[in-house]
Amino acid sequence: MPAAVPSDRLGRPLRDLRLSVTDRCNFRCPYCMPREVFGPHHSFLPRAEILTFEELQRLVRLFHRLGVRKVRLTGGEPLLRQDLPELVGMLAGLAGLDLALTTNGTLLARHAEALAAAGLGRVTVSLDSLDDEVFRRMNDVDFPVARVLDGIDAAAAAGLGPIKVNAVVRRGLNDRGLVDLASHFKGSGHVLRFIEYMDVGTSNRWRPDDLVPGEEIVRRVDAELPLEPIEPAYRGEVARRWRYRDGGGEVGVITSVSQPFCGDCTRARLSAKGELYTCLFAAAGTDLRAPLRSGADDTEIETLIRDVWTRRTDRYSELRSEESVGGKRVEMSYIGG
Ligand code: SAM
Ligand code: SF4
Ligand code: SF4
Repeated sequence: MPAAVPSDRLGRPLRDLRLSVTDRCNFRCPYCMPREVFGPHHSFLPRAEILTFEELQRLVRLFHRLGVRKVRLTGGEPLLRQDLPELVGMLAGLAGLDLALTTNGTLLARHAEALAAAGLGRVTVSLDSLDDEVFRRMNDVDFPVARVLDGIDAAAAAGLGPIKVNAVVRRGLNDRGLVDLASHFKGSGHVLRFIEYMDVGTSNRWRPDDLVPGEEIVRRVDAELPLEPIEPAYRGEVARRWRYRDGGGEVGVITSVSQPFCGDCTRARLSAKGELYTCLFAAAGTDLRAPLRSGADDTEIETLIRDVWTRRTDRYSELRSEESVGGKRVEMSYIGG
């Protein structure tokens, strides 16, 4: 029998789960894993600390019983986790589950077919600029744009399209290329989504001046490629959607900073070592690995998850402007966005 679906203290149901399958990444995007912090001496989680595929499968089954219908595999860079298609195959069978992956695209051409064959539904690829020099600087490992575009093509060819393409916008770094990105993906069938650069974690040293508000992003694209708004498709949709007036498809803007959407936030996040976070800006999570590894039964773990969710009051982005929160916060690369 399916368990009753819990709501949190603000009436938000548990619908989405982001699984970070590794804390490692082959990029050093300065807004996420700046090299000064994530350098050669940074210690990543040892393998034994990371949840196994069997543990992940068990947890996803319990989250599914509690109402989760969307699971997104993320990281770090999820395709660095060995045999990821095997995990996809282990999760894909759950009824009505929308299974997606967010990746930097570097290893996508190699794995797209296996991921699709294993039952992956959708892919989001992060790509911040089409200007090769800017992109190489933004990933800080000198990785070329062309290979990410190859990954997008391979994913589409494997049937994983339409692909969502995420571009984090940082003033003075890649904001000159907004229209180029939009023109490139207009009419491609893929959906570009601009993401406001967020003050997530503490290592990126975010400053308000770095932000290009969504309203300005839309104004700048609309001036060259006329847009009109579209209604959200479902509750909890984070992107504000726009379509090209000439029928060239749509573009999204994720305004987490300038127009927060905590009221509809139905997402839980699981770190690679099995901590449950109920907000991107939380300082700490709840350990699910210890009960998993010490023989707790399904009911006990389900009760723990339910208790965490029903106590949830998070709405960091709405409070940000009131400067009521500060101090230590989990890093994006640890819980995957
Ligand atoms: N490595 C994969 C990737 O880059 O797609 C998955 C993990 S990454 C943490 C997930 C998403 O978070 C990416 O689209 C990335 O651009 C976004 N992101 C990371 N740091 C961010 C920040 N400070 N503000 C907004 N988005 C951020
Ligand atoms: Fe890696 Fe993704 Fe973070 Fe860039 S945004 S450093 S690709 S985890
Ligand atoms: Fe959800 Fe926290 Fe982001 Fe608000 S700030 S939308 S509660 S993750």
